[in-house]
Amino acid sequence: HLEVRDLHLAFGANKVLRGVDLDIPSGQSVCVIGPSGSGKSTLLRTVNRLIEPDSGEVLLDGENTLTWNPDQLRRQVGMVFQQFNLFPHKTVLQNITLALRKLKGLSADEANEVALGQLDIVGLRDKAGRRPGNLSGGQQQRVAIARALAMSPRAMLFDEVTSALDPELVKGILALLADLAAQGMTMVVVTHEMGFARRVAGKVAFMDGGVVVEAGPPEQIFDSPAGPRLQQFLSQVL
Ligand code: ATP
Ligand code: MG
Repeated sequence: HLEVRDLHLAFGANKVLRGVDLDIPSGQSVCVIGPSGSGKSTLLRTVNRLIEPDSGEVLLDGENTLTWNPDQLRRQVGMVFQQFNLFPHKTVLQNITLALRKLKGLSADEANEVALGQLDIVGLRDKAGRRPGNLSGGQQQRVAIARALAMSPRAMLFDEVTSALDPELVKGILALLADLAAQGMTMVVVTHEMGFARRVAGKVAFMDGGVVVEAGPPEQIFDSPAGPRLQQFLSQVL
């Protein structure tokens, strides 16, 4: 169970998060939608401690993660980005084993076994020895997802993981996320894929101006939006 409570963050005078509240029950997948600049990426980056918030709480099963050191948090909450963020000079296998060895303290053999198992799941075991640059965008994103899942996280954060992909590769990645959701992964998915949000999300949260303006089941958010900001956003994207 991941809970974000009254999270605030400013970059100088720019108040980007203005009291974000978001509840992600265990096993649920929550999609975050909203206009460009509304703070979606900043929210995920703050939850994952790539940025330190000014105030607020991020609770994982009731524990305040802001008191943990960032490595401790990242062992338990995985994040995948739009731009994959793989290490270009390491092999696919090394990209996955690195964090397992450094953050989890696994031996080389143990890390290889876990990494190959995850590559199997995303269908890329045969690419273990390649460098990321030799893979398609969709394959690189699968490696990034495998890398995060290899840590056996308690929750996962996905930030527009299909936005940099060619259209024909998007479906496969969304199917992988849908599988994860069906398996009961606790996850936050920032996405522009409204069809995916409607089909897969247990809950959809609409962010605008650094707050969650409306949140609820997909039918409620897409079919009966309450306020004018969400109504206007949906009229632009649907
Ligand atoms: P998009 O849909 O375009 O990805 P977003 O909702 O993810 O948008 P953010 O990337 O969170 O939006 O940005 C929110 C605001 O924070 C923007 O005004 C942006 O300029 C600002 N911002 C984001 N990162 C930084 C940073 N590292 N330093 C200063 N300002 C930043
Ligand atoms: Mg963003």
